[in-house]
Amino acid sequence: MLTKRDFYINGAWVAPAKARDYNVIDPSTEEPCAVISLGDQADTDAAVAAAKAALPGWSATPPAERARLVAKILDQYEARVQEFAKVIAMEMGAPIDFALSDQAPCLPWHTTNFLKAFEKIEWVRPLDPSVPAEKPQPAVAMEPIGVVGLITPWNWPVNQVALKAIPAMLAGCTCVLKPSEEAPLDAMMFAEFCHDAGIPAGVFNLVNGDGAGVGSQLSTHPDVQMISFTGSTRAGKAISKAAAETLKRVVLELGGKGANLVFADADDKAVERSVRRMMENTGQSCNAPSRMLVERSFYETAVAKAVAVAESIPVGPALEHGAHIGPVVNKRQWDQIQGYIQKGIDEGARLATGGPGLPEGFNRGFYVKPTIFADVKPGMTIEREEIFGPVMCMIPFDTEEEAVAIANDTPYGLTNYVQSGDPARSNRLARRLQAGMIEMNGKPRGAGSFFGGVKQSGRAREGGIWGIEEFLEPKGISGYDFTVKDAAE
Ligand code: NAD
Repeated sequence: MLTKRDFYINGAWVAPAKARDYNVIDPSTEEPCAVISLGDQADTDAAVAAAKAALPGWSATPPAERARLVAKILDQYEARVQEFAKVIAMEMGAPIDFALSDQAPCLPWHTTNFLKAFEKIEWVRPLDPSVPAEKPQPAVAMEPIGVVGLITPWNWPVNQVALKAIPAMLAGCTCVLKPSEEAPLDAMMFAEFCHDAGIPAGVFNLVNGDGAGVGSQLSTHPDVQMISFTGSTRAGKAISKAAAETLKRVVLELGGKGANLVFADADDKAVERSVRRMMENTGQSCNAPSRMLVERSFYETAVAKAVAVAESIPVGPALEHGAHIGPVVNKRQWDQIQGYIQKGIDEGARLATGGPGLPEGFNRGFYVKPTIFADVKPGMTIEREEIFGPVMCMIPFDTEEEAVAIANDTPYGLTNYVQSGDPARSNRLARRLQAGMIEMNGKPRGAGSFFGGVKQSGRAREGGIWGIEEFLEPKGISGYDFTVKDAAE
């Protein structure tokens, strides 16, 4: 069992102000794998003070130098990637091969993309580029917003840390990260990477804690100018209210209930691809295609295919090699998913495969059977609410119009999916579906794209140039002389 009680504040690992232990549970075994501390107001204050003190120096550091230091985090990652993947597997249950192939590489992927996007930022730009540079003129300067609080979830833990801490530092902000108390170990390694990369003291700080403690202390702190949060819609609302008093910027990435519109002319692999995408990470992805809407003429075929794929997906412990899915993160999540499965049965959906209880052969660990519900009706609880487990709903539709109406009738709007061989229809649907992201026919959205939603999925735009601009504020200036260069440009 790892002992990880200290916090990373002002360039050093320091003991918490008050002892308050919290066990990180390995969901494959239900045994503690690490002990951390939950921080107190004094710890949050110390971290914010360190970030505030480091802000003038870091924001005035030339952007190229900030980029050089941030890029060095990649060397630390390369040197320790095996260990990094292993802590992710232990803390949240991602199978080790998946942790190595998908979870851990989120850090170099986002960092590399941010570094590319960073080169395109014009720190001071003329309001009207056609005015000759020799004349003093109106200008817009992009400036770091200041000290930022970063609050992250457990499901793709390093993905969220990378999507926040890397652009914050590149933008010239200083930050305090509060990772999820369920999966803090990868974030603590990230703090070590920052330290060993030579990121100056106070630029990046980490305090562990829970939502009610460090989470709300950051959200209400007068010296924090912005909260960037990823997590549940419930917590996003609480943070918005808590942050209102200090009128800080609040950027939210929240839950989802992705609709996946599958037409009879979809390619052969569409159903299999979609079910695998749903079950990936044991269904614990905010952008999971959890509602499969299928054109009626293809519906029974699609149900049979989906069942066959779900039944072919093995379940197993995170530290075992293989292409299985792991357990869900904790007992609370397991209980919640079981409740939804029972609710689906009680409300009359057809349980096509999977169902309640542990998969065969398990008597401990938070494992869930890959589950498919067919004949789900719009309005049923499992169609409305985010289950956040390996449970997919299938709903037949007769017309494109009806499919769009069902897809959009949700408080969420993160990712919707289209599977169709008709490009005109796909394009049309890409515009009509209400979501921050639309994925068509299994094609990736690409390097440098952003991640973010609409409606109650939150309205953040993380990744690429948009993800850096979240941490910048435009300042309007008159009479700026572009013949004089400033170090911070
Ligand atoms: P959660 O909201 O319970 O916790 C997320 C983080 O917020 C944790 O660090 C937690 O300690 C903190 N927190 C909780 N309550 C808080 C409060 N009142 N004030 C401040 N901080 C608080 O979510 P979770 O269970 O860790 O993650 C699962 C949720 O995250 C799902 O709903 C999922 O859809 C969502 N998610 C969204 C995205 C996205 O980009 N849209 C990505 C991943 C996960």
